[in-house]
Parts: sequence; C-alpha cells; structure tokens
Amino acid sequence: MKKLLTITLMLGACSYCFAQNAPVTPPPPAHPSGPDKMIPGMTEIWDPEVKIVEPGKTNSEAPADAIVLFNGGDINSEWTDSKGNPSKWIVQDGELVCVRGSGVIQSKRKFGSVQLHVEWKTPSEVKGDSQGRGNSGVFLQGLYEVQVLDSYNNRTYRNGQAGSLYKQYAPLVNVSRKPGEWQAYDIIYTAPTFGADTTVYATPPRVTVLHNGVLVQNNVVLRGPTEYIGIPEYFIKVHGPGSLILQDHGNPVAYRNIWIREL
Ligand code: MG
Repeated sequence: MKKLLTITLMLGACSYCFAQNAPVTPPPPAHPSGPDKMIPGMTEIWDPEVKIVEPGKTNSEAPADAIVLFNGGDINSEWTDSKGNPSKWIVQDGELVCVRGSGVIQSKRKFGSVQLHVEWKTPSEVKGDSQGRGNSGVFLQGLYEVQVLDSYNNRTYRNGQAGSLYKQYAPLVNVSRKPGEWQAYDIIYTAPTFGADTTVYATPPRVTVLHNGVLVQNNVVLRGPTEYIGIPEYFIKVHGPGSLILQDHGNPVAYRNIWIREL
C-alpha cells in the first residue's frame, strides 16, 4: 500500500512537471461531434465545385481559360512597342522574332499575378559569347526579368544565365537545350503588394520557374526590380499591373506559343 502511494505521488509530480512545460496555447475546442463521432465526411468539402478547365492537347498548348498572347499569327492585337506603336518585331514562319534595334515588345494587357507559358529559341548560328549570345528576356509586370540566353556551352555570371532572375537568383540547374532548339518556360508569378511606404514591398514579388519542365526557381523572393547596375532594393517603387515585356538585346531570339493565366 505504501509502495502504491509512492508511485501515485511520483506520477502526480511528473504530470505537474509536464503541465509546467505545456504550451500556453489553449487546447482546441472539443469537436462538436465528439471524438467518438468522427467520420471521413467531416473533413470533405464539396462546394463550390472546382471550376472545370479544358486542358490543351499537350502541356505546352494553352488551356481553355488562358489568354493567348501569341500563337503564330497577328501581333498587333496584343502587342505594341514601348511607346504604344506597332512593334517592329517580325512574324516569320509562325515565330515572333526580335529585330535588333526595334526595342522591346510589350503586351497591351496589363497583368498582376500570373501563370505564364512561353517558348523561345536562340539562333542556331552561334555568335558572340557570355551575355552577347542569344540574349533576350521575359519581364514580368515589365520590371522583373527572367533571363533568356543561349546558356548551352556559354559561361557567364551564374545569376545572369538562362533561367536566372537576372542578377538576383541563379537557376538551380542549367537545363538549356542547344542553340536553334525550342525551349520552354513555365512561370508562376505572385505580384508584390504595397502599403503606406511606397518604396518598400508590403509583400514582395515571388517567382517559380520551370525551364524545359525542370524546376530552376523555387518560389524565390525578389529584392526589387531587375537592374543592370545597382542594388535592386534601391529601385523599389509602388506599381500596379504591368505589361509582359520581351527584351530586345540585339539578338534575333524567336518566341512562340505565349499564353498567360491571371491568378
Ligand atoms: Mg536579357
């Protein structure tokens, strides 16, 4: 009997110790049905039904709810140059090709957070090196560049090669195809938000990029707009939705199959 009393006291002391170390967060309320009434259906959500979207025939073809920005035909309905005039980029054999010196091409529509699919091809005739070979770029909201570059046997700074968020994040791997072969970016972009101070982000922009189906940017947090020279944070300025911009870096990079889904 004395032994039993000792064990009881010890257990009591231990539970007191545990109680002292227990988290201060109050325990969740008892489930209304009671633990013995739990069934699988309690955690099933049926309504509203998830919207049905007809997928493309392939993973690169636009699904039914995407805005097709370029599908091999006309560019003037969706694109202009930087001043709002018709772009001097050309459409050749269904490919949208950058013309050196013509400047950027930008979407008439403005976007915030998006899913973007874009296919691109650097020239099969290899000219130049480093940043001078097959350079273009996809600018989200007109400000944040996902670099387009011939990075096949072409060393450059790692945060400036294909798949980089230019001068902010190097890609996780170099999954570049050869010059003259089509490559794809699938980009998921979360636009920033701003508060009272318009020179810092309330929530910063975030980007995920798949290059040729391989993850190269995993939800990275951008520090500021893309800058060739300077610290990105210094250039933060409040902005709303922006055009999708394709860069003219002097090389005849081609694009096709550009579609976008607003998120
Ligand atoms: Mg570029």
